[in-house]
Amino acid sequence: MEQTFIMIKPDGVQRGLVGEITSTFEKKGFYLKVMVAIRMKLISVDRPFVEKHYEESSAKPFFEGLLKYITSGPVVGMVWEGNNVVATNRKIIGASNPSASDPCTLRGSFAVEIGRNVIHGSDSVESAKKEIALWFPDGTVNWQSSLRPWIYE
Ligand code: UDP
Repeated sequence: MEQTFIMIKPDGVQRGLVGEITSTFEKKGFYLKVMVAIRMKLISVDRPFVEKHYEESSAKPFFEGLLKYITSGPVVGMVWEGNNVVATNRKIIGASNPSASDPCTLRGSFAVEIGRNVIHGSDSVESAKKEIALWFPDGTVNWQSSLRPWIYE
């Protein structure tokens, strides 16, 4: 099954949105592939790590501000699994700029400005693989929900 990498950004953690965001993906029918408390990364990421995570944006004018933002406090890194999870989670997350996001999305509901847009989600299966390898070099937990046949044919 496809996997994606999700990061709740420092503003999402500070604003107490971890539970609600996690719950949204759980209720959709996706599976958290890291065990909370043991493998969920609640860490303050350092600059070289964030530079690597966002290396594709390194030439962009907002890169310096983005580095400051992401290193400003703890973030939560997670891997979610499910059919078409990369594209579906991008839809659930909403457009990069919350003012253009559908109000039903996470950014549309919880954020106002592009520089404080609460959450990251991999933009392709290829970047998901790269990001998962960067954040969880030891791999993820292999488990199957017993409710799976009620969600997947
Ligand atoms: N960003 C920003 N200003 C911009 C564009 C992007 O601060 O003008 C930040 C924002 O946090 C965004 C991140 O840089 O989520 C990565 O940008 P990207 O275009 O990859 O958007 P995403 O894939 O996160 O929607």
